[in-house]
Amino acid sequence: MARNTEVVVIGGGYAGVMAANRLTKREGVTVTLINPRAKFVERIRLHQLVGGSDDALVDYQRILARGVRFVVDTVTRIDAPGRRVTTASGGILAYDYLIYAVGSGSGEPSVPGAAEHAYPISTLEDALRLRPVVEAAPASAALTVVGGGSTGIETASELAEQGRKVTLVCGRTLGAYLHPHARRAVAERLAELGVTVLEGGGTTVTAVTRDAVRLADGRELPSAVTIWTAGFAVPDLAARSGLSTDALGRLLTDETLTSVDDPRIVAAGDSAAPSDLPVRMSCQSAMQIGPQAGETVLSRIAGKRPADFNVGFFGQCISLGRRAGIVQYARRDDSVTKAFLLNGRPLAMLKEGVCKSTVWQLSQEARHPGMLNLWFKDRARRKSLPARAGEAAPGRTA
Ligand SMILES: Cc1cc2nc3c(=O)[nH]c(=O)nc-3n(C[C@H](O)[C@H](O)[C@H](O)COP(=O)(O)OP(=O)(O)OC[C@H]3O[C@@H](n4cnc5c(N)ncnc54)[C@H](O)[C@@H]3O)c2cc1C
Repeated sequence: MARNTEVVVIGGGYAGVMAANRLTKREGVTVTLINPRAKFVERIRLHQLVGGSDDALVDYQRILARGVRFVVDTVTRIDAPGRRVTTASGGILAYDYLIYAVGSGSGEPSVPGAAEHAYPISTLEDALRLRPVVEAAPASAALTVVGGGSTGIETASELAEQGRKVTLVCGRTLGAYLHPHARRAVAERLAELGVTVLEGGGTTVTAVTRDAVRLADGRELPSAVTIWTAGFAVPDLAARSGLSTDALGRLLTDETLTSVDDPRIVAAGDSAAPSDLPVRMSCQSAMQIGPQAGETVLSRIAGKRPADFNVGFFGQCISLGRRAGIVQYARRDDSVTKAFLLNGRPLAMLKEGVCKSTVWQLSQEARHPGMLNLWFKDRARRKSLPARAGEAAPGRTA
């Protein structure tokens, strides 16, 4: 009797869970998912964890197909020629195909003092470390959020709504991704919440100390707690294992999400760099890429050419505390169009609906793998591929 095809998925985030579930649609495939934690982390709710309105955790039983073997461990090395991975507990798992979906975390800030005194918020461990620090700070204490992107805006709003004294230091522009109308609406809502927003070249942070933040223009802001939201980084597992990555460390793949080094390794989510032209790191794209990574492996098992991947964006829903928020629409290529501000119950329902629908999609894929194909086409990507990929090539690290 022919033995099963062994597929190992590294990383139980949005992309990894979608990929693992999709793989169960085919008989004769054994799927093992390796993740360092026994619970699924809803990273899109981590600012809520810090604010105390959600724990950002989901039981894997709810979202993982029964046929998936789940291992709580951390992969420390991929041996591509030997087709096996080593884990932190000393385990060795052999595979026929590997899906690399290790996601992202906070970038190591290069600013003096930031590594010691600033708190990142991009992983569960970061958020769990930060929450008691915020809770222990007196109500009148100055809190500084560094980074004017969506995570910084959501975090600043969440804390200000609880009556905290918050300064949002943007470096350059508040919500650089946003349409000017949306940016104005966000600025107005932040002002209503009492957030001091510092924008412009002089507001780049140059140093962080235990109780202050220094800016490029020479100002020193008192800061009892400094929260660092500027920039995501990816784990260095691929680079450490001798696989080709982009400058940030994302696994370099072709348009079928297959590693440029090895047809048995496929990448998905924040840690993938297809054609050296990665899409925006987001739950939105991870949910679309995950099942397609699974399909790529299934095609290879069936001896067929895998399809090129597709990701189409539709914008961002940014919460501004629990009672307001903004919907920023985008074209499929992620370029922004119009936006509108929602207040009160409609927004609370919309953003909550977005978070809940993500978990619902994961559980649907677990129960009915392959039934939902919720990915969209960005036609602009196809047209710009050769030229843009050529431009990006010097950024490669391996
Ligand atoms: C506060 C906050 C709010 C956000 N809000 C939004 C939003 O509104 N909309 C949106 O689209 N995006 C949002 N994002 C971004 C989004 O959360 C990420 O882009 C998304 O989680 C990426 O999914 P992923 O599956 O690639 O990786 P992840 O969700 O990061 O999952 C990767 C998994 O791999 C595991 N892993 C890592 N290394 C190893 C290893 N060596 N061995 C085994 N397992 C490993 C990790 O522990 C993790 O469980 C937000 C992020 C933050 C921090």
